[in-house]
Amino acid sequence: MEKFLNILYPKRCPVCHGILSDRGNLICPSCEKWLHPIVTDYCLKCGKPVKAEEELCGECRKSHREFDRGRSVFFYNDKMRQSLLRYKYYGNRDYAEYYAVSLCHYMEREIRMWKPDLIVPVPMHPRKQRERGFNQAADLAKKAGGILKIPMSDQVVKKTKATRSQKKLNAAERKQNLRMAFQATERLDGLRILVIDDVYTTGSTIEAMAHVLKAAGADKVFFVTLCTGQI
Ligand SMILES: [Zn+2]
Ligand SMILES: [Zn+2]
Repeated sequence: MEKFLNILYPKRCPVCHGILSDRGNLICPSCEKWLHPIVTDYCLKCGKPVKAEEELCGECRKSHREFDRGRSVFFYNDKMRQSLLRYKYYGNRDYAEYYAVSLCHYMEREIRMWKPDLIVPVPMHPRKQRERGFNQAADLAKKAGGILKIPMSDQVVKKTKATRSQKKLNAAERKQNLRMAFQATERLDGLRILVIDDVYTTGSTIEAMAHVLKAAGADKVFFVTLCTGQI
């Protein structure tokens, strides 16, 4: 049966896309070295890599953050970028298993300290979700919630406005635009929420989520993303 499944649905490595001969593996042992988990020297607020002697990144030193704390699992390097492209746009959805297992492996200790009541993925606009067929953040959140035994809901925040062209907007307009794009569908009074997304770049999406969640009564908003990029 195991062999049969392997021929029908070979599992593939999220880095090199080669077929994994051992179904117990989620990545080639030799490909693991291309991904860099961020386990030391990260910003204590947003999780971005910082110099060893720094506590906060430049952005978090400079401005108030609407979320409480967050971490990312991997550096957003070329291998990770290519992996996510194949996952999101070319139907390699089984990569999500490796992503979710890694997320829990590297972040479980921190997540347990945050004591979240609920996991909420960054929602996708329904039209975009129809085009893509799935929301990668919800996919990750569902799998991670399953592993950690923390409830997950992709219904409490909706994306009601597509935010495609942010390019012509300045920073303040962009922020406002994003805040307006998300809407909480119920009260979340006193809850500690863990937001999950695939990539953290400037943090504006997570900030907009935190703003909306706190406006709905959430006490704390934490986040974990699979990767974090340079600003
Ligand atoms: Zn590989
Ligand atoms: Zn930071």
